[in-house]
Amino acid sequence: MKKVHNFNAGPCVLPKEAINASIEALKDFVGTGMSVIEVSHRSKEWQAVMDETVALWKELLNIPEGYQVLFLGGGASTQFYMVPMNFMEKKAAYLETGVWAKKAIKEAKAFGEVVIVASSADTTFNYIPKKYTIPTDADYFHITTNNTIYGTEIREDIDSPIPLIADMSSDIMSRPIDVSKYTLIYGGAQKNVGPAGVTFVIVKESALGKVSRYLPTMVNYKTHIDDGSMFNTPPVFSILVMNETLKWVKRNGGVKVMQQRNEEKAMMLYNEIDRNSMFVGTAEKDSRSIMNVGFVMAEPYKDKEEAFMAFAKERGMVGIKGHRSVGGFRASLYNACPKESVEALVAAMQEFEKLNK
Ligand SMILES: *Cc1c(COP(=O)(O)O)cnc(C)c1O
Repeated sequence: MKKVHNFNAGPCVLPKEAINASIEALKDFVGTGMSVIEVSHRSKEWQAVMDETVALWKELLNIPEGYQVLFLGGGASTQFYMVPMNFMEKKAAYLETGVWAKKAIKEAKAFGEVVIVASSADTTFNYIPKKYTIPTDADYFHITTNNTIYGTEIREDIDSPIPLIADMSSDIMSRPIDVSKYTLIYGGAQKNVGPAGVTFVIVKESALGKVSRYLPTMVNYKTHIDDGSMFNTPPVFSILVMNETLKWVKRNGGVKVMQQRNEEKAMMLYNEIDRNSMFVGTAEKDSRSIMNVGFVMAEPYKDKEEAFMAFAKERGMVGIKGHRSVGGFRASLYNACPKESVEALVAAMQEFEKLNK
């Protein structure tokens, strides 16, 4: 197989071991003589995978009592409306830090009043607003912890006087978090914990059941709690790959070790961006993401963008094109992205500077 350095933003690079174990299960699922995609989701063999995957989530994130872990369909995008439907009676507060936050806001507006407490839209979302007041009469405060497109991140568990709800699609399991500070955490698995097709939800059970509207069965989190995420047929293969990915995280020392590795990788790349006069970072320094690193050519070298893209591609780099709304480059350094890939990118930047400056 061709060796590449995969910096894709999502779906993203996954551990080879997790992919290989999933291939085995696709051929013969735990000795059943059937593929994992052929067995009944009501079988004891599948139930064991569900139970183990929930247990891995609880262990790796140190999830306290009273929280439920759900695996749903529909992507993080479905959570954009499930959240307000389950939690907003009249009013909700949102922090507008990017396109994903905007999409969440758009859906919430259909169910009540939305207060945007702060926004960084004025500068193409290149920073995380820090000075804002959370209205205490809102039903919840929604944040996007990592802004995948802009490379900005809230790297702490903030204090909120009202229930805190977070889209953690692209930084879940990248660092330890204090789950007790959140009422609900959700995300698509395909950024850091698995393939597309499964959405994780961590929800404080006691916070549910407080809205007066009718909730369609599939939209009600309680349905999925009551049926252990199997009210309907779950996305078995996606869950299985997520299970293997989390086992890999555990074998490698857990989320704390992921954090150390991720910080080391990000520092390596940010240091090069700051040192190399041909490139500049797009996010403000105090808002920089550890997961997605955005950079562009420095002003005098703007015309060299395509040349660097080709140069990097020749050296095996994949997925470093920046999102069309930001331009330039974006390297996503998720858990399974090896340090060697970052070293290769840094080496390419240094070599490019030598040849072109
Ligand atoms: C990718 C992404 C989403 C959308 O996820 P889907 O599972 O494709 O719906 C939402 N929020 C953030 C922060 C993302 O990075």
